[in-house]
Amino acid sequence: MPWYPDNDGTFKLVGPKKIKVGANGPVKRIVVHTVGSTNPESTTQAQNGCYGTWMGEKKDSMVSAHFCVERDGRVYQFADTDDIAFGTGWCTGGSIHIEHAGNHPLPLTADQMYYTTKLMAWLATVHPDIRLEVEGTGEADPGDPTKACITCHRFIQVAAKREIKAGRLSPMDITDKACPGTGIMGQLQEIANNARRWKALMGANAAAGISSGLPMTSSP
Ligand SMILES: [Zn+2]
Repeated sequence: MPWYPDNDGTFKLVGPKKIKVGANGPVKRIVVHTVGSTNPESTTQAQNGCYGTWMGEKKDSMVSAHFCVERDGRVYQFADTDDIAFGTGWCTGGSIHIEHAGNHPLPLTADQMYYTTKLMAWLATVHPDIRLEVEGTGEADPGDPTKACITCHRFIQVAAKREIKAGRLSPMDITDKACPGTGIMGQLQEIANNARRWKALMGANAAAGISSGLPMTSSP
């Protein structure tokens, strides 16, 4: 029943179109997304359901993901991490889908970088199969997102097409998306580096008997 203890609020997803309850294990990867908002600096993208451009900006069509990190770093949770969210077609299960307020090709803000990597470190603690390493180097080389890793929506799409072409994956409809865009893709290594530093810090705090494991004042 992992709900992030440091979240700033929850907007719970309901219904089989948005969530598959209890089916996500074993969770081994983190998938990075951007909301794709036409108002990318809006401070209320999570409470508006992250309805980005790919959602048709419809208020009643909340995205299916586990989290959204606002531009100012506030973290909102939409689903238990043990539930499947339909953030991608292929590799949607076994994943934690994190939306980031903004729109491609904007990079993460410094606050988003700080709080999303802290969230990822906690995720790797409650789901120990998660590996805080980026799989792939870019759109031209998206790696193997079936592995335990940090990846992003676009990498999964490109890899799925490669696997379908090679006959290793059954054909499926893929609607091409830029998500999370070149700005955030260029930050993936920094994201993984910072998440690993947070995780080490949480481990050191736990060993020292600091119970929360969530340092509030130290930077990675
Ligand atoms: Zn996405």
